[in-house]
Amino acid sequence: MTRVLLATKNLGKVAELQRILTGFALEGASYEPGPETGRSFAENALAKAHEGVAHTGLPSVADDSGLAVDALNGMPGILSARWAGRHGDDLANLDLVLGQLADVADGRRGAAFVCAAAYALPDGRSDVVLGELRGTLVREPRGTNGFGYDPIFVPTGYAVTSAELSPDEKDAISHRGQAFRALAPLLTAALSS
Ligand code: IMP
Repeated sequence: MTRVLLATKNLGKVAELQRILTGFALEGASYEPGPETGRSFAENALAKAHEGVAHTGLPSVADDSGLAVDALNGMPGILSARWAGRHGDDLANLDLVLGQLADVADGRRGAAFVCAAAYALPDGRSDVVLGELRGTLVREPRGTNGFGYDPIFVPTGYAVTSAELSPDEKDAISHRGQAFRALAPLLTAALSS
C-alpha cells in the first residue's frame, strides 16, 4: 500500500482520515508544522501538504477547516481555531461566537463547516478540493461528542447538534468526510500517472 503523509500531529485526525483514505497507509507528521499564513482554507491546506513533502519526501495530504458564519461575513473562517485569541481553546471560541450572535434572529443564524483537503507529490504536482456542511447555530451548546463548534451547530435536515451525532454519523456528512472522499480518487489518479 502506498505510504502517504498526513501533515498533522493530531493522531485523532490520522485515525479519522485513515477510515476514509482506505487505499493508503497514512502516517502522521513527526516534524513541527510551520504557522498557517494563507488567506484561505485552500491556501493553508496546500501549504501544509507541500510542507509535508519537503520534510519527508512522501506524497502528502493535509486539510484546513473551520466554521464560516453567515451573520459574521464568513468569519471565524481560517481563524476558527484561535478566534478567542488562544489556539485551540474550543470553549472560549464557542462562547465568543455565541456572544457575537446574541442579537441575531433565529432565521439568520446560518453557518457552514468548510474543509479544504489537498495533496502534494514529490514531483511538485498538487490539487485541492473543498467540502462543506451547512447548518444553523443554536443559542445553547448541546452534546458531548466531537469538538470545536460542534455543540452549537445543527446540520441542515437534522434536529440535533453535530456534538449529539455519533462519530460515524458525523463522518458520513461532515465537511472533512466530503472533502477527503473527493480527494481520494484524485490522489489515486495522480499517483498512477
Ligand atoms: P484546523 O485544525 O486548522 O483545521 O482548525 C480547525 C478549527 O475549526 C477547529 O479548531 C475548530 O474550532 C473548527 N472546526 C473544524 N472542523 C470542525 C468540526 O468538525 N467540528 C467543530 N469544529 C470544527
